[in-house]
Amino acid sequence: MADKYDVIVIGAGPGGMTAALYASRANLKVAMLDRGVYGGQMNNTAEVENYTGFKSILGPDLAEQMYQSSIQFGADFVYGNVEKVTVDEDGIKHVKTDSGELEAPAIVIATGSQYRKLGIPGEDEYSGKGVSYCAVCDGAFYRGKNVTTVGGGDSAVEESEYLAKLVNNVNIVHRRDQLRAQKILQDRAFANDKIDFTWNTIVTEIVGDGKKVTGVKTHNKETNEDRLVPTDGVFIYIGNVPMTEPFKDLGITDEQGWVITDDEMKTSVPGVFAVGDVRDKKLRQITTAVGDGGIAGQGVFSYIESLKD
Ligand code: FAD
Ligand code: NAP
Repeated sequence: MADKYDVIVIGAGPGGMTAALYASRANLKVAMLDRGVYGGQMNNTAEVENYTGFKSILGPDLAEQMYQSSIQFGADFVYGNVEKVTVDEDGIKHVKTDSGELEAPAIVIATGSQYRKLGIPGEDEYSGKGVSYCAVCDGAFYRGKNVTTVGGGDSAVEESEYLAKLVNNVNIVHRRDQLRAQKILQDRAFANDKIDFTWNTIVTEIVGDGKKVTGVKTHNKETNEDRLVPTDGVFIYIGNVPMTEPFKDLGITDEQGWVITDDEMKTSVPGVFAVGDVRDKKLRQITTAVGDGGIAGQGVFSYIESLKD
Protein backbone atom coordinates (compact mmCIF):
# COMPACT_ATOMS: atom_id res chain seq x y z
CA MET A 1 0.00 0.00 0.00
CA ALA A 2 1.30 3.41 -0.98
CA ASP A 3 1.65 6.09 1.71
CA LYS A 4 -0.93 8.81 0.97
CA TYR A 5 -0.24 12.55 1.21
CA ASP A 6 -1.79 15.81 -0.03
CA VAL A 7 1.50 16.75 -1.64
CA ILE A 8 4.85 15.09 -2.21
CA VAL A 9 7.82 17.42 -2.52
CA ILE A 10 10.65 15.67 -4.36
CA GLY A 11 14.01 17.11 -3.32
CA ALA A 12 14.97 18.84 -0.08
CA GLY A 13 17.15 21.67 -1.33
CA PRO A 14 16.17 25.30 -0.63
CA GLY A 15 13.32 25.15 -3.20
CA GLY A 16 11.79 21.92 -1.90
CA MET A 17 12.18 22.86 1.76
CA THR A 18 10.38 26.15 1.19
CA ALA A 19 7.55 24.47 -0.75
CA ALA A 20 7.20 21.99 2.16
CA LEU A 21 7.13 24.84 4.69
CA TYR A 22 4.38 26.74 2.85
CA ALA A 23 2.25 23.67 2.10
CA SER A 24 2.45 22.23 5.63
CA ARG A 25 1.76 25.65 7.18
CA ALA A 26 -1.43 25.66 5.06
CA ASN A 27 -2.37 22.45 6.89
CA LEU A 28 -1.62 20.05 4.04
CA LYS A 29 -0.17 16.60 4.69
CA VAL A 30 3.31 16.88 3.19
CA ALA A 31 6.08 14.40 2.43
CA MET A 32 9.46 15.88 1.55
CA LEU A 33 11.61 13.25 -0.14
CA ASP A 34 15.34 13.24 -0.69
CA ARG A 35 17.85 10.58 -1.64
CA GLY A 36 20.58 12.31 0.32
CA VAL A 37 21.04 14.65 3.20
CA TYR A 38 18.64 17.63 3.17
CA GLY A 39 20.10 20.92 1.92
CA GLY A 40 20.93 19.99 -1.66
CA GLN A 41 23.74 21.96 -3.29
CA MET A 42 24.04 24.21 -0.22
CA ASN A 43 25.96 21.35 1.39
CA ASN A 44 28.70 21.82 -1.23
CA THR A 45 28.91 25.58 -0.81
CA ALA A 46 31.41 27.27 1.47
CA GLU A 47 30.17 30.74 2.19
CA VAL A 48 26.84 32.16 1.09
CA GLU A 49 26.83 35.94 1.14
CA ASN A 50 23.94 36.69 -1.21
CA TYR A 51 21.04 35.26 0.78
CA THR A 52 19.08 38.08 2.39
CA GLY A 53 19.16 38.15 6.17
CA PHE A 54 22.68 36.80 6.56
CA LYS A 55 25.79 38.87 5.98
CA SER A 56 27.52 35.57 5.41
CA ILE A 57 26.63 32.00 6.36
CA LEU A 58 28.17 28.60 5.64
CA GLY A 59 26.10 26.59 3.14
CA PRO A 60 25.59 23.58 5.47
CA ASP A 61 24.53 25.92 8.33
CA LEU A 62 21.92 27.56 6.10
CA ALA A 63 20.74 24.08 5.06
CA GLU A 64 20.24 23.10 8.72
CA GLN A 65 18.30 26.28 9.53
CA MET A 66 16.07 25.88 6.47
CA TYR A 67 15.42 22.23 7.33
CA GLN A 68 14.35 23.01 10.92
CA SER A 69 12.05 25.69 9.56
CA SER A 70 10.60 23.41 6.86
CA ILE A 71 9.49 20.65 9.24
CA GLN A 72 8.06 22.88 12.01
CA PHE A 73 4.47 22.54 10.75
CA GLY A 74 4.56 18.76 10.42
CA ALA A 75 6.06 17.98 7.00
CA ASP A 76 7.53 14.45 7.01
CA PHE A 77 11.10 14.08 5.77
CA VAL A 78 11.19 10.78 3.86
CA TYR A 79 14.45 9.24 2.69
CA GLY A 80 14.35 7.69 -0.77
CA ASN A 81 15.55 7.88 -4.33
CA VAL A 82 12.66 8.70 -6.66
CA GLU A 83 12.86 6.42 -9.68
CA LYS A 84 9.63 7.16 -11.53
CA VAL A 85 6.53 9.35 -11.33
CA THR A 86 3.30 8.43 -13.10
CA VAL A 87 -0.15 10.06 -13.14
CA ASP A 88 -3.26 7.85 -13.18
CA GLU A 89 -6.64 8.58 -14.81
CA ASP A 90 -7.90 10.25 -11.58
CA GLY A 91 -4.98 12.67 -11.57
CA ILE A 92 -3.26 10.93 -8.63
CA LYS A 93 0.53 11.09 -8.79
CA HIS A 94 2.37 7.86 -7.97
CA VAL A 95 5.92 8.38 -6.77
CA LYS A 96 7.99 5.20 -6.91
CA THR A 97 11.14 5.22 -4.81
CA ASP A 98 13.82 2.61 -4.17
CA SER A 99 12.12 1.91 -0.82
CA GLY A 100 8.40 2.03 -1.64
CA GLU A 101 5.62 4.08 -3.16
CA LEU A 102 3.88 7.30 -2.16
CA GLU A 103 0.83 8.93 -3.73
CA ALA A 104 -0.76 12.36 -3.70
CA PRO A 105 -2.97 14.56 -5.89
CA ALA A 106 -0.09 17.05 -6.17
CA ILE A 107 3.70 16.95 -6.40
CA VAL A 108 6.42 19.58 -6.36
CA ILE A 109 9.52 18.68 -8.34
CA ALA A 110 12.54 20.24 -6.61
CA THR A 111 15.31 17.88 -7.69
CA GLY A 112 17.72 20.62 -8.75
CA SER A 113 20.75 19.90 -10.84
CA GLN A 114 24.07 18.13 -10.56
CA TYR A 115 27.60 18.88 -11.73
CA ARG A 116 28.44 18.31 -15.36
CA LYS A 117 31.48 16.17 -16.18
CA LEU A 118 34.18 17.10 -18.66
CA GLY A 119 34.08 13.63 -20.21
CA ILE A 120 37.83 13.47 -20.81
CA PRO A 121 40.35 10.65 -20.23
CA GLY A 122 41.45 10.36 -16.60
CA GLU A 123 38.37 12.13 -15.16
CA ASP A 124 36.59 9.01 -13.92
CA GLU A 125 39.82 7.11 -13.21
CA TYR A 126 41.08 9.82 -10.84
CA SER A 127 37.71 10.85 -9.36
CA GLY A 128 38.33 10.96 -5.61
CA LYS A 129 42.08 10.63 -6.25
CA GLY A 130 42.68 14.24 -7.25
CA VAL A 131 39.59 14.96 -9.34
CA SER A 132 36.84 16.72 -7.38
CA TYR A 133 33.60 18.61 -7.97
CA CYS A 134 33.41 20.03 -4.44
CA ALA A 135 36.02 22.36 -2.93
CA VAL A 136 34.24 22.44 0.43
CA CYS A 137 34.35 18.64 0.66
CA ASP A 138 37.89 18.05 -0.62
CA GLY A 139 39.81 21.34 -0.46
CA ALA A 140 41.44 20.51 2.87
CA PHE A 141 43.31 17.57 1.27
CA TYR A 142 45.30 20.06 -0.81
CA ARG A 143 46.72 22.30 1.92
CA GLY A 144 49.94 23.89 0.65
CA LYS A 145 49.59 22.22 -2.77
CA ASN A 146 48.87 23.49 -6.29
CA VAL A 147 45.47 22.87 -7.84
CA THR A 148 43.68 23.50 -11.13
CA THR A 149 40.09 24.71 -11.44
CA VAL A 150 38.21 24.23 -14.71
CA GLY A 151 35.41 26.67 -15.69
CA GLY A 152 34.67 30.38 -15.76
CA GLY A 153 31.29 30.71 -14.03
CA ASP A 154 30.31 31.70 -10.47
CA SER A 155 31.14 28.25 -9.09
CA ALA A 156 34.64 28.02 -10.58
CA VAL A 157 35.60 31.50 -9.48
CA GLU A 158 33.98 31.50 -6.04
CA GLU A 159 35.23 28.04 -5.12
CA SER A 160 38.74 28.97 -6.34
CA GLU A 161 38.68 31.83 -3.87
CA TYR A 162 37.78 29.34 -1.14
CA LEU A 163 40.56 26.98 -2.28
CA ALA A 164 43.08 29.83 -2.29
CA LYS A 165 42.67 30.07 1.50
CA LEU A 166 43.99 26.51 1.80
CA VAL A 167 46.32 25.78 -1.06
CA ASN A 168 49.55 27.28 -2.38
CA ASN A 169 48.20 28.21 -5.81
CA VAL A 170 45.00 27.88 -7.88
CA ASN A 171 45.20 27.95 -11.67
CA ILE A 172 41.80 28.62 -13.28
CA VAL A 173 41.71 27.14 -16.78
CA HIS A 174 38.93 28.69 -18.86
CA ARG A 175 37.97 27.99 -22.44
CA ARG A 176 37.42 31.68 -23.33
CA ASP A 177 39.23 34.93 -22.55
CA GLN A 178 36.40 36.27 -20.36
CA LEU A 179 34.79 34.93 -17.23
CA ARG A 180 31.05 34.37 -16.96
CA ALA A 181 31.10 34.86 -13.16
CA GLN A 182 29.52 37.84 -11.37
CA LYS A 183 31.69 40.97 -11.42
CA ILE A 184 32.26 41.02 -7.66
CA LEU A 185 33.64 37.46 -7.79
CA GLN A 186 35.84 38.28 -10.79
CA ASP A 187 37.30 41.37 -9.09
CA ARG A 188 38.20 39.39 -5.99
CA ALA A 189 39.80 36.58 -7.98
CA PHE A 190 41.86 39.00 -10.09
CA ALA A 191 43.06 40.69 -6.88
CA ASN A 192 44.03 37.39 -5.22
CA ASP A 193 47.73 36.70 -5.71
CA LYS A 194 47.21 32.96 -5.11
CA ILE A 195 44.91 32.69 -8.14
CA ASP A 196 46.09 32.84 -11.72
CA PHE A 197 44.37 32.23 -15.03
CA THR A 198 45.01 30.24 -18.17
CA TRP A 199 42.78 31.68 -20.91
CA ASN A 200 41.36 30.21 -24.13
CA THR A 201 42.40 26.79 -22.96
CA ILE A 202 40.69 23.44 -22.53
CA VAL A 203 41.79 20.50 -20.40
CA THR A 204 42.05 17.48 -22.69
CA GLU A 205 43.24 14.81 -20.23
CA ILE A 206 43.87 14.32 -16.53
CA VAL A 207 47.04 12.35 -15.90
CA GLY A 208 48.41 10.62 -12.84
CA ASP A 209 50.69 7.93 -11.48
CA GLY A 210 47.90 5.37 -11.11
CA LYS A 211 47.22 6.41 -7.49
CA LYS A 212 46.75 10.15 -7.75
CA VAL A 213 46.61 13.08 -10.16
CA THR A 214 49.96 14.54 -11.18
CA GLY A 215 48.97 16.89 -14.00
CA VAL A 216 46.60 18.02 -16.74
CA LYS A 217 47.09 18.08 -20.48
CA THR A 218 45.85 21.35 -21.95
CA HIS A 219 45.23 22.76 -25.41
CA ASN A 220 45.30 26.48 -26.12
CA LYS A 221 42.64 27.21 -28.74
CA GLU A 222 44.29 30.45 -29.88
CA THR A 223 47.90 29.30 -30.21
CA ASN A 224 47.18 25.55 -30.69
CA GLU A 225 49.84 24.87 -28.06
CA ASP A 226 49.54 21.58 -26.14
CA ARG A 227 51.07 21.42 -22.67
CA LEU A 228 51.40 19.01 -19.75
CA VAL A 229 50.91 21.13 -16.64
CA PRO A 230 51.82 19.60 -13.24
CA THR A 231 49.02 19.85 -10.63
CA ASP A 232 48.02 18.05 -7.44
CA GLY A 233 44.26 18.32 -7.89
CA VAL A 234 41.60 19.24 -10.44
CA PHE A 235 38.35 20.93 -9.37
CA ILE A 236 35.76 20.84 -12.14
CA TYR A 237 33.02 23.51 -12.22
CA ILE A 238 31.61 23.58 -15.75
CA GLY A 239 27.92 23.94 -14.99
CA ASN A 240 25.07 21.64 -14.16
CA VAL A 241 22.60 19.22 -15.70
CA PRO A 242 18.95 18.88 -14.53
CA MET A 243 17.91 15.91 -12.42
CA THR A 244 14.73 15.03 -14.31
CA GLU A 245 15.09 11.40 -15.37
CA PRO A 246 12.12 10.20 -13.19
CA PHE A 247 9.79 12.74 -14.87
CA LYS A 248 10.80 12.37 -18.48
CA ASP A 249 7.59 10.58 -19.48
CA LEU A 250 5.38 13.38 -18.10
CA GLY A 251 6.18 15.58 -21.10
CA ILE A 252 7.07 18.62 -18.98
CA THR A 253 10.74 19.11 -19.91
CA ASP A 254 12.52 20.87 -22.75
CA GLU A 255 15.02 19.14 -25.04
CA GLN A 256 17.82 19.58 -22.47
CA GLY A 257 15.74 18.16 -19.64
CA TRP A 258 14.88 21.40 -17.76
CA VAL A 259 11.26 21.56 -16.51
CA ILE A 260 9.04 24.16 -18.15
CA THR A 261 6.68 26.05 -15.79
CA ASP A 262 4.64 29.21 -15.80
CA ASP A 263 5.06 32.05 -13.26
CA GLU A 264 3.02 30.08 -10.73
CA MET A 265 5.44 27.11 -10.96
CA LYS A 266 2.75 25.03 -12.70
CA THR A 267 3.81 22.57 -15.37
CA SER A 268 1.52 21.48 -18.19
CA VAL A 269 0.27 18.58 -16.01
CA PRO A 270 -2.39 19.70 -13.46
CA GLY A 271 -1.08 19.26 -9.90
CA VAL A 272 2.56 18.94 -10.99
CA PHE A 273 4.63 21.93 -9.89
CA ALA A 274 8.38 22.52 -10.24
CA VAL A 275 10.72 24.87 -8.39
CA GLY A 276 14.36 25.89 -8.18
CA ASP A 277 17.30 24.93 -10.37
CA VAL A 278 15.40 22.14 -12.13
CA ARG A 279 13.31 24.78 -13.94
CA ASP A 280 14.19 26.34 -17.26
CA LYS A 281 15.15 29.79 -15.90
CA LYS A 282 17.84 32.46 -16.01
CA LEU A 283 19.07 32.86 -12.44
CA ARG A 284 19.76 29.68 -10.49
CA GLN A 285 20.35 30.76 -6.90
CA ILE A 286 19.27 29.89 -3.38
CA THR A 287 17.11 32.98 -3.18
CA THR A 288 15.30 32.24 -6.47
CA ALA A 289 14.76 28.59 -5.45
CA VAL A 290 13.26 29.78 -2.16
CA GLY A 291 10.99 32.24 -4.00
CA ASP A 292 9.82 29.50 -6.35
CA GLY A 293 9.17 27.24 -3.35
CA GLY A 294 6.89 29.77 -1.67
CA ILE A 295 4.87 30.27 -4.83
CA ALA A 296 4.52 26.50 -5.41
CA GLY A 297 3.61 25.79 -1.77
CA GLN A 298 0.79 28.29 -1.99
CA GLY A 299 -0.19 27.06 -5.46
CA VAL A 300 -0.48 23.50 -4.21
CA PHE A 301 -2.87 24.66 -1.48
CA SER A 302 -5.11 26.37 -4.09
CA TYR A 303 -4.94 23.27 -6.29
CA ILE A 304 -6.01 20.93 -3.47
CA GLU A 305 -8.85 23.34 -2.54
CA SER A 306 -10.02 23.38 -6.18
CA LEU A 307 -10.32 19.60 -6.15
CA LYS A 308 -12.92 19.88 -3.35
CA ASP A 309 -15.25 22.01 -5.55
P1 FAD B 1 19.24 21.56 -5.06
O1 FAD B 1 19.93 22.41 -4.06
O2 FAD B 1 20.02 21.04 -6.21
O3 FAD B 1 18.56 20.34 -4.28
C1 FAD B 1 17.95 19.29 -4.99
C2 FAD B 1 17.74 18.11 -4.05
O4 FAD B 1 17.00 17.12 -4.75
C3 FAD B 1 19.04 17.44 -3.61
O5 FAD B 1 19.08 17.36 -2.18
C4 FAD B 1 19.01 16.05 -4.25
O6 FAD B 1 19.57 15.04 -3.43
C5 FAD B 1 17.50 15.83 -4.42
N1 FAD B 1 17.20 14.90 -5.52
C6 FAD B 1 17.59 14.99 -6.83
N2 FAD B 1 17.10 13.94 -7.53
C7 FAD B 1 16.40 13.16 -6.65
C8 FAD B 1 15.67 11.94 -6.78
N3 FAD B 1 15.55 11.30 -7.95
N4 FAD B 1 15.09 11.42 -5.66
C9 FAD B 1 15.20 12.05 -4.46
N5 FAD B 1 15.87 13.22 -4.29
C10 FAD B 1 16.46 13.77 -5.37
N6 FAD B 1 23.56 30.03 -4.88
C11 FAD B 1 23.54 31.18 -4.17
O7 FAD B 1 22.49 31.82 -4.09
N7 FAD B 1 24.64 31.62 -3.50
C12 FAD B 1 25.82 30.94 -3.49
O8 FAD B 1 26.80 31.37 -2.87
C13 FAD B 1 25.88 29.72 -4.24
N8 FAD B 1 27.03 29.01 -4.28
C14 FAD B 1 27.06 27.83 -4.97
C15 FAD B 1 28.24 27.08 -4.99
C16 FAD B 1 28.32 25.89 -5.69
C17 FAD B 1 29.60 25.12 -5.71
C18 FAD B 1 27.16 25.42 -6.37
C19 FAD B 1 27.22 24.09 -7.09
C20 FAD B 1 25.98 26.13 -6.35
C21 FAD B 1 25.92 27.36 -5.68
N9 FAD B 1 24.76 28.14 -5.65
C22 FAD B 1 24.71 29.32 -4.93
C23 FAD B 1 23.53 27.72 -6.37
C24 FAD B 1 22.50 27.12 -5.37
O9 FAD B 1 23.14 26.18 -4.52
C25 FAD B 1 21.36 26.47 -6.13
O10 FAD B 1 20.78 27.43 -6.98
C26 FAD B 1 20.28 25.93 -5.18
O11 FAD B 1 20.81 24.99 -4.26
C27 FAD B 1 19.16 25.24 -5.96
O12 FAD B 1 18.23 24.75 -5.05
P2 FAD B 1 17.17 23.63 -5.45
O13 FAD B 1 16.28 23.46 -4.26
O14 FAD B 1 16.54 23.95 -6.73
O15 FAD B 1 18.00 22.29 -5.73
P1 NAP C 1 27.68 28.07 -15.32
O1 NAP C 1 27.24 29.42 -14.92
O2 NAP C 1 26.88 27.30 -16.30
O3 NAP C 1 29.17 28.21 -15.86
C1 NAP C 1 29.84 27.09 -16.38
C2 NAP C 1 31.24 27.51 -16.83
O4 NAP C 1 31.93 26.35 -17.30
C3 NAP C 1 31.21 28.54 -17.95
O5 NAP C 1 32.24 29.48 -17.77
C4 NAP C 1 31.46 27.68 -19.20
O6 NAP C 1 32.17 28.35 -20.18
C5 NAP C 1 32.32 26.56 -18.67
N1 NAP C 1 32.11 25.31 -19.39
C6 NAP C 1 30.94 24.70 -19.69
N2 NAP C 1 31.14 23.53 -20.32
C7 NAP C 1 32.48 23.40 -20.44
C8 NAP C 1 33.33 22.40 -20.98
N3 NAP C 1 32.83 21.28 -21.55
N4 NAP C 1 34.66 22.57 -20.91
C9 NAP C 1 35.18 23.68 -20.34
N5 NAP C 1 34.44 24.66 -19.78
C10 NAP C 1 33.10 24.52 -19.83
O7 NAP C 1 27.82 27.08 -14.04
P2 NAP C 1 28.21 27.37 -12.50
O8 NAP C 1 29.32 28.33 -12.40
O9 NAP C 1 28.35 26.03 -11.86
O10 NAP C 1 26.90 28.05 -11.91
C11 NAP C 1 25.67 27.32 -11.92
C12 NAP C 1 24.57 28.18 -11.31
O11 NAP C 1 24.80 28.35 -9.90
C13 NAP C 1 24.54 29.58 -11.91
O12 NAP C 1 23.20 29.99 -12.05
C14 NAP C 1 25.25 30.42 -10.90
O13 NAP C 1 24.84 31.79 -10.93
C15 NAP C 1 24.88 29.74 -9.58
N6 NAP C 1 25.92 30.01 -8.59
C16 NAP C 1 25.83 31.17 -7.90
C17 NAP C 1 26.83 31.51 -7.00
C18 NAP C 1 26.71 32.79 -6.24
O14 NAP C 1 25.70 33.46 -6.38
N7 NAP C 1 27.67 33.20 -5.43
C19 NAP C 1 27.92 30.67 -6.83
C20 NAP C 1 28.00 29.51 -7.58
C21 NAP C 1 26.99 29.19 -8.47
P3 NAP C 1 31.54 29.58 -21.02
O15 NAP C 1 31.61 30.76 -20.09
O16 NAP C 1 32.46 29.69 -22.19
O17 NAP C 1 30.16 29.17 -21.39
